[in-house]
Amino acid sequence: MDYIRSEKEKGCIFCDKPELNDDRETLILYRGEHTFVLMNIYPYNNGHLMVAPYAHVDNSNDLDTVERNEIMSLADSAMVILKGTMNAEGFNFGANIGKSGGAGIEEHIHYHIVPRWQGDTNFMPVVGHTKVQVEGLQETYDILKPHFDSL
Ligand SMILES: [Zn+2]
Repeated sequence: MDYIRSEKEKGCIFCDKPELNDDRETLILYRGEHTFVLMNIYPYNNGHLMVAPYAHVDNSNDLDTVERNEIMSLADSAMVILKGTMNAEGFNFGANIGKSGGAGIEEHIHYHIVPRWQGDTNFMPVVGHTKVQVEGLQETYDILKPHFDSL
């Protein structure tokens, strides 16, 4: 707990967001027992989700079996939901581990689920964090949320 607290003082979105208890604002779609699903505010594609453990760990081998199982199970459910709601045709699913691995937030492991469509731009970057962007995200959130609620 001390470790978690001292890390949190520096600010970690994966620790802070679940504690805010404003899931629509923080774009948290689902709270599992050990892990949770949220939307990426800088999406590569519409519907870009992330699964993260509540535990502040930076490596997959610091997760226990229960956490790993829940991550896989939530990722699978998320992909089924993205297929059903957004007609996703394929996915990129995985983690960037460490700075060299391309992790944006390397101190708290998180798994990306990026829906893909035939002919979409490969990892099209979305520029800026504008009001329009946030509204677009919340629109997607409102489409996805009922499906996560019924998991
Ligand atoms: Zn954290």
